[in-house]
Amino acid sequence: MNDIRYPQNNDLRSLVHFCAEKGLIWLDENRMILMHVAALAELRKELINSVGIDQARRILTRMGYASGVRDAELAKKIRSGMSLKDAFVVGPQLHMLEGMVHVTPIELDCDIESGRFYGNFLWENSCEADVHVREYGHAEHPVCWMEIGYASGYTSAFMRRFILFKEVECTATGSNHCRIVGKPVEEWPDAAEHTPYYEADSIVGRMLELRSQVDALRASLERNLPRPNLIGASSGFRHAYTLIDKAAATQVTVLLLGETGVGKERFARALHEMSGRAAGPFVAINCAALPHDLIESELFGVEKGAFTGAQVSRMGKFERADGGTLFLDEIGELPLAAQAKLLRVLQEGEIERLGDERTRKINVRLVAATNVDLQAAVKAGRFRSDLYYRLNVYPVVIPPLRERLSDIPLLIESMLQRFGALHGKRVAGITDKALRALKGYAWPGNIRELENMIERGMILAPQNEWIEIEHLFAGPQDFEAVRHGIDATGNLASEAPGGSEGGIEALCNQVINTGIGLDDLEQVLIQHAVKQSGGNLSGAARLLGITRPQLNYRLKKRESPV
Ligand SMILES: [Zn+2]
Repeated sequence: MNDIRYPQNNDLRSLVHFCAEKGLIWLDENRMILMHVAALAELRKELINSVGIDQARRILTRMGYASGVRDAELAKKIRSGMSLKDAFVVGPQLHMLEGMVHVTPIELDCDIESGRFYGNFLWENSCEADVHVREYGHAEHPVCWMEIGYASGYTSAFMRRFILFKEVECTATGSNHCRIVGKPVEEWPDAAEHTPYYEADSIVGRMLELRSQVDALRASLERNLPRPNLIGASSGFRHAYTLIDKAAATQVTVLLLGETGVGKERFARALHEMSGRAAGPFVAINCAALPHDLIESELFGVEKGAFTGAQVSRMGKFERADGGTLFLDEIGELPLAAQAKLLRVLQEGEIERLGDERTRKINVRLVAATNVDLQAAVKAGRFRSDLYYRLNVYPVVIPPLRERLSDIPLLIESMLQRFGALHGKRVAGITDKALRALKGYAWPGNIRELENMIERGMILAPQNEWIEIEHLFAGPQDFEAVRHGIDATGNLASEAPGGSEGGIEALCNQVINTGIGLDDLEQVLIQHAVKQSGGNLSGAARLLGITRPQLNYRLKKRESPV
């Protein structure tokens, strides 16, 4: 069992990328930071002074635990094809790479199937012990709380059961090194002394919980209405929400404006639910989805014998929505004849079924929506101006997703819950890098597109694991064009630029480093363009941004003897 050797850590080093140009450091898809140990020391001291040594220890243990869990996910991903021990030591190796401590395995025995685990590791250069001794001098008990949290978190996630590590020696207490031992929690007779440091329940936690209860109570007193199913906190969202909220108390006709996929029906439904009509029906109809010759009978109903085929009398959507709200989506698609009838309904508050002589009183709030410029449609003669003015009393613009990017995490959270229930699947969440990619995307399809992407990601990500970039975007994506890894000597090293944006400098450096001459580079580039355009020289010239004769000249230059 002894003589455990670490495999080369190239695979782990290659996960680290520095993108100083964008203010980002990555460990695979986890965003990292280079933090001063002095800052950590300050935080530790503040915690101890403000919440006491036990709470400080609990908070730091949990902090370490969280990062251990993240690294265990990497271990499974990176070394899944290697022996269990080689996969396990990703933890100690990353703990070293991350600069926390030097780890030497003394004994390691693990088996995931049976859940057996025993680990004994020597720690040197412990960052926490250093910091503690510098601030407080020697301690009575071991102090490497964050690091022990890491070991427990890493191993528990790796073994899929709670493995508790204890620090049996610590340099802060005067030993030459720290030493940790880990076993399943059930096998420690004194586990109860240690497990509270891993639990979220605490005085601080309870205080926060009480405060949130007070907040909730206050909110429910302020407004005793069911919370509508609208999600967002960005200023663009809140602006639209406030307008809807104000309209809810009135009977005003509301016009929702916004691109396709921004969630106009959701807003219409929320308006209905927040209004005094909530107990009445909410009826939605998409004007673009109906054939023109059916739209009037759909909206206003039809009387038996009104036209061939009308064998029974039928209610229209207006009658169905009586006492409630009628949502007319894509109102810009309504044919002119139907527009005239709609205008009359709005003016008179009564409808007339097709082929009927009598009129029927109706009490309906109309919410219309469009993604086209109605004013332009009026100018073009496709939309009645009198109807436009009637509808445009209370316009509400729903912002596109690209203008409310800060809502993306909230939206994703609710989508993961919804799709999780739908597909009977649970994922841990979305990686930092994937979230960043989503925030950097233009979202032409808005929330609907986000929904599709998250649903796909949820299906592709392994059960209980994280949704990564590759689960979201169909093609290969490189969001960080310029980046640097760490080479074997520990120095920052350039990597091939993957994208075009911002990568020119790195590209130049790389070209210069290859030692290729300018003329050769030109020829390589031309050959590549010719190949890419399938041998078509005009196409190749276009790719290179030059004319066909210019390309010919450059090709000939090469052929002629120098
Ligand atoms: Zn220690």
